[in-house]
Amino acid sequence: MQVNWRHIHAARNSYAVLAAACEKEGFALNRVDGPDDDITCYSLNSLNAAQYQDEIASAGCLTIVGGPHATALPTEVAAYADYVIVGEGEFTLPRLLADIQKGGGGKIPGVMKGGWYQPADTGVRLDAYPAFSEIKGYVEISRGCPFSCGYCQTPRIFGHCMRHRSVDEIVRYTSRHKEARFVSPNAFAYGSDGIHPRWDKVEALLKACKNQIFFGTFPSEVRPESICKESLALVHRYCANTKLHFGAQSGSDAVLKKLGRGHSVADVLAALDLFSDFSFEPVVDFIVGLPFETDDDQRQSLDLIRAVARTGTIHVHRFIPLPGTPLANLPARSLLPETEKLCGSLALTGKVTGSWNDPEIRFFRRPSNDIP
Ligand code: SF4
Repeated sequence: MQVNWRHIHAARNSYAVLAAACEKEGFALNRVDGPDDDITCYSLNSLNAAQYQDEIASAGCLTIVGGPHATALPTEVAAYADYVIVGEGEFTLPRLLADIQKGGGGKIPGVMKGGWYQPADTGVRLDAYPAFSEIKGYVEISRGCPFSCGYCQTPRIFGHCMRHRSVDEIVRYTSRHKEARFVSPNAFAYGSDGIHPRWDKVEALLKACKNQIFFGTFPSEVRPESICKESLALVHRYCANTKLHFGAQSGSDAVLKKLGRGHSVADVLAALDLFSDFSFEPVVDFIVGLPFETDDDQRQSLDLIRAVARTGTIHVHRFIPLPGTPLANLPARSLLPETEKLCGSLALTGKVTGSWNDPEIRFFRRPSNDIP
């Protein structure tokens, strides 16, 4: 049985992870640029799903669709795909392939097929699955997030309980990279419950990685309240990065509270104050056009963007309502003329990147040593 993986740039790390998980069970995922016999697998996010819908619906082979979009809207995706994987794929995808191979109907937990669905009866333990195999990817060190930011799909897909890969397993995979990057909802939460940091565990991890590592930068950005003297000292001592990337999202405490971010503007300012002691450059994420943002809230974000621009750079995202999140049905509000003006002028000096008008651009940024 030939099993294919539809190449989609935004899903390249999912390919590395799932190819390794399927290889363990005797299935090779052959990379293709369109649907092909016997089975083609897709991983879709909510920005690219519409682009692939007709291709999947008219495919002359069996199709399996997973990823954040399929997990958020399985019934919608099941209307045009043969099988939908809801949630984590490492266990479910090879299990589904084995079932199809032996002529089963694919009715297994974690899969939606037509009108049939039963939730997954397992959760993935990271150490039980390879981070990658032949196809190299970033090393996922932690999964799950105890926070519930209203715009974010992560805790809705992976749950609120943090799970971590062990230091030995992480080292095994980072040693295959000349420069290693990690996947985590908050790199500084490594080894902890996500709320109470365990700097001993973070240090044990960083100390054990002997090659060049980038920690607290894409795709393992951190939260502002986890930036402190201890965390900065660890990165300074063990890591290659000179930048740290964290999310501020808004300059308004009222908006942060409505988002459920679990930190304040003061936390962001305190983090920025610490950067100069360690010669790190801050890279800070903001979301503009949040649905409940007043004009004054948006102006407060501009003030914070100006403060960050003095020493660092800003990545601006335009709010997009993602399915499966509490803000799914709320449209973005308009931008003030001064927001467009400030972002535009800072972009000309390289201080602002991202897109405040076209949300899709943010899914295509790549660091220089990105995986293929
Ligand atoms: S934005 Fe970050 S902290 Fe908030 S829920 Fe998502 S992963 Fe967790």
